[in-house]
Amino acid sequence: MNLILFGPPGAGKGTQSELLIKRMHMRQISTGDLFRAAIKNQTPLGKEAKGYLDAGKLVPDSVTIGLVREVLGQLKGQSFILDGFPRNVAQAEALGELLKELNLKVDTSLFLEVPLDRLLGRLAGRRICKNCGAVYHVQNKPPQKEGVCDTCGGPVLQRPDDKEEVVRTRLETYEASTKPLKEYYKAHGPYVEVNGLGTSEEVYERISKALQVKAH
Ligand code: AMP
Repeated sequence: MNLILFGPPGAGKGTQSELLIKRMHMRQISTGDLFRAAIKNQTPLGKEAKGYLDAGKLVPDSVTIGLVREVLGQLKGQSFILDGFPRNVAQAEALGELLKELNLKVDTSLFLEVPLDRLLGRLAGRRICKNCGAVYHVQNKPPQKEGVCDTCGGPVLQRPDDKEEVVRTRLETYEASTKPLKEYYKAHGPYVEVNGLGTSEEVYERISKALQVKAH
């Protein structure tokens, strides 16, 4: 099963991808994670992407699509989740071409629905382990020891683009560019919407039910 997972920033795409890759043995392709790794390693891609991530804006399509082409080309028959790509209709169209070219198929696109008024609090309180990427929240899911990852002991920090000023731009970018993808995938199906409110286990349960229905 190959999957596109999309939704507003803070909807829980990263958390749900983490659960899906562990339990359904899928490979996660997160363009956001790939950009952050490139920035950390100061590669040419990282240098190009940094300003966009810092500002909460989309990295240009040509760069992002080139990156996804490279990663999809390296898959050796593994199931994959596209997490955070596509993020606008031009990327969705390019992905369609890319899949044809590589003889791959996406089984469904899944929209994780969380109302906008809940996203700001989720993003502002979100903390991430710098080492292993585990996701925490200051109120809903704090690490046992403040600032220290339960899983690997790494430092738990706020992502620079989770600061309130940048979050506002990211939400605007979402409204203008990514939200129209709902209509695109409704028209180009298969497409499913899942309520992203509740605990990560509750949401995961809904996702696996929705995927089972799609798989049969
Ligand atoms: P995320 O981790 O998915 O929230 O992505 C963090 C940031 O990476 C976004 O705010 C963008 O700057 C950049 N980014 C991630 N995915 C894409 C994409 N598909 N197209 C353009 N920029 C992206």
